[in-house]
Order: sequence, then C-alpha cells, then structure tokens
Amino acid sequence: MRLLLKNGVIVTAEETFNGDLLIEEGLISRVGGKIQSEADRVIDLKGKYVMPGGVDVHTHFNLDVGTAVAADDFYTGSVAAAAGGTTTIVDHMGFGPRGCSLHHQLDKYMEDAGRDAVIDYGFHGVIQHINDGILDEMRSMVEDGVSSFKGYMTYDYKLQDHEMKAVMERLGSLGAITTVHAETHEEIHELRARYVAEGKTQPIYHAKSRPVKTEVEAIERMIEISRKAGDAPLYVVHLSSGDGLDTIRRARKAGRNIYAETCPQYLFLDESRYMEEDGNGLKYVMSPPLRERGNNERLWKGIADGTIQTVATDHCPFDLKLKKEMGEKDFTRCPNGAPGVEARIALMYSEGVEKGRIGINRFVDVVSTAPAKLFGLYPGKGSISVGADADLMVIDSEREVTISHKNLHENVDYTPYEGMKVKGYPVMTISRGEVIVEEGVFTGQRGRGRFLKRKPVFKQIKGG
Ligand SMILES: [Zn+2]
Repeated sequence: MRLLLKNGVIVTAEETFNGDLLIEEGLISRVGGKIQSEADRVIDLKGKYVMPGGVDVHTHFNLDVGTAVAADDFYTGSVAAAAGGTTTIVDHMGFGPRGCSLHHQLDKYMEDAGRDAVIDYGFHGVIQHINDGILDEMRSMVEDGVSSFKGYMTYDYKLQDHEMKAVMERLGSLGAITTVHAETHEEIHELRARYVAEGKTQPIYHAKSRPVKTEVEAIERMIEISRKAGDAPLYVVHLSSGDGLDTIRRARKAGRNIYAETCPQYLFLDESRYMEEDGNGLKYVMSPPLRERGNNERLWKGIADGTIQTVATDHCPFDLKLKKEMGEKDFTRCPNGAPGVEARIALMYSEGVEKGRIGINRFVDVVSTAPAKLFGLYPGKGSISVGADADLMVIDSEREVTISHKNLHENVDYTPYEGMKVKGYPVMTISRGEVIVEEGVFTGQRGRGRFLKRKPVFKQIKGG
C-alpha cells in the first residue's frame, strides 16, 4: 500500500517546509520536494499543514473507580482521539484489587485495548503499594514496554515519601521515569472534612479544599525526593498552577531532572466555572481543580519558555448526569475527571498558534514530539522522518469550528469547552499509513491499534 501526500506544508518540532510525503507499508519512505511515484492513493493537501500525529500521554479509558466507570472505553475514546488528530495515547492504568501485582493491571489493559483501540497505545504503570516483590517486578514491566509509572501523593493508594524514594531509585536505576500526581493528602483531607461538616458542599468547595499551596508543597517534596534518589527523572502530571510552575522552573534552573505536563483545562478554564448554576459546576470537578484566572496565562508562558514540555488531557469522562446524581448534594461524592481527548489539538492550535502565544513548531513539540521523546516512542512516533511510522494529522488553518459535545465523538454528555470557537481544525488523521479519519468521519477498524513497547530513555542512575 502506497500513499502519496502532495503539496502540503510539512511542520515538525524543528522546521516548516513545503513538500510531498511518500508512505509505503505504513512507514514514511520519502520526505519533501516534489515526489513522482506510483501510489494507490494520491491526496492533494495544498494549503494544509501536515504534522506528526498527536501524542496524548495522559488518558483514562475504560477507567473503573469503584463507584463509577468512565464513559469512554478504548474504542470510543480512541476514535475520539483520532478524530481530534491524535494517533498515539499512553493511558494511565487505573488501580486494581488491593495488593495486586503490577502485571495484573497490564494484563487487563492489554486485553481491553487490544480488542478495542483504533490507534496505537502504551500504558503507564500504576503503583498501589510497595514491597520487594513490586520493586523487583518493575524490571520485567520495563522489559515488557512499560517504561514509566505513576505514584499518587493523595487518594487511597497514596505513597509515603520514603516509598516514593524507593520507587524513584528503582525506576531511575532502570532508566525509567516516575510520574507523580502532586497534591498533598493531609491538608486536602482535612479541608474536605471541614467543609462538609460546615455544610459547604457546593462545587466551588472542591477547588477551595485543594488550594494551590497543596500542589506547590507536593512538587517541592517530590523534587527533594528525586534529588535524594540520585537525581532520578521526575515528571509532574497535570500541572495546574502558576506557583507550581515557578517551583519547577527554579528546580530546572538548579539542574534538577524534572519535567512537567499541563492540560487544556488549566489553560482555558478557571475557578469561576464552579459557580455555574443547576449543578453544572460539577462538570469541572477534577483533581487538581481549576484555578483562579491568572494561572492560565502563567502556564502558557511556561509552555513558551520550555518549563512545561507536554500538553496532555487527563481525559477522564463521566457523564454530567452521573456527576449530578452522585455529587449534587456533596461535591466529595462526585466522580473526578473531565473529557478533553478530542479537542486538545484544535484548542492548542487555535489558542496557541493562531493567537500568537506559541510558534507552530513549539505547538508540534508540546502535543506530539516532546511527549514521544520523554516516553520512549521517538522517532517512531512524534516525527516526520524516513522510517518513522506514518502517523500524521492534517490541519486546515482556515477551518472555523464551534466546539460542542454534539459534534464530538467522545461518548459523554458534555464537553467543558462547549461553545468555544476555534480557528484551525484537524481534517484528516493517518495512522501507520492508513487514513482513519477524514472530515470527522472515522473509517478505520475496531482493534486496529497496536501496543507500543516503550523504551526506557533516561540515563540509568547508579546505586538505588
Ligand atoms: Zn489522570
């Protein structure tokens, strides 16, 4: 199968140029210039951008949180991702039964995604508890292609600092990276209990009970733990605040081995959303919460100056109907999370590139190339180069769209970005040389996605 893309404007994280692309057997075989070649299909992309397909390294498909199950499984979630220009996801696996092995969840997720996913996928390991067996098992997980893990500092399976240190030493010695949900548990736990006792159960108290300082303190503690663990690599997921960003910026200047991800919700939305009436504030119950306006532009600056390397979504959709049923009387009962996997690229392009906050190459870097590099997928993913997987998105920079959940493929009854107008939209998605979305219509097959064995990419830390 040969596909020839003619006359597009090719954009990578480094450069922008006019030229053709030839794809053979799912791989990019020639890049740039005028290509004359026989092909099964020739597509004229005059005036459109051809970019590496989006890499979203923070999704939660098929997530079961015990009290509720997320609305997107690996089929609907990956179709939505593809429709939005994303060709690779790295999903954060949910918690399994108490005491289970690391492979327990991997086995389950391999089965679910193997059956349903329509784009290529990898998984971040999830650490629920620590003992010698779990620390030992990390090596075989890495060998099996899981070269990153997440530890939580809050929720039921939070790790204590000495456990985090053991995790970081172990993963650091394997060249793998520790990702962390950075919020301090004790203070949040206390504030939530106090607000509930005082009858302050409206959605705004979700934000008030998780103040910015809990994120800052958690990041500071993790930076210190990483330092003690021989400078093992640390990745902060879903960074939400300007003060958290400043902490990371200082640490990077001091030479610490730390990376950061933010998400569209922290760039486009703010705390005032919790005041929406009729229970609609529950749409935004996610952790960390939306922050006061002002944080948004600070995070944008962090993207522009390189303090933040990646923009992922933390796509974790629960129907608003369910969020209201469970959380209307008490925000602490509302399942946490919001959708975003489909709108990420359009929002980042429109608000980032069109509005002049970041350049187009920086855009490609944060939504595709940098996440592929950090998580062991590059250059197979996240690049336009000979031999790379032909995973591409085509953006029409003139296309104007008003985002509405009615037009999205996500299997959830709302989007937090309802009514936002964007200029520039993905109009074609190609996965391993196959056009799987054209003009918003998915044309691929369920289960066509492949598991990506991700390599550990960091220098191995001695000792540990
Ligand atoms: Zn998450």
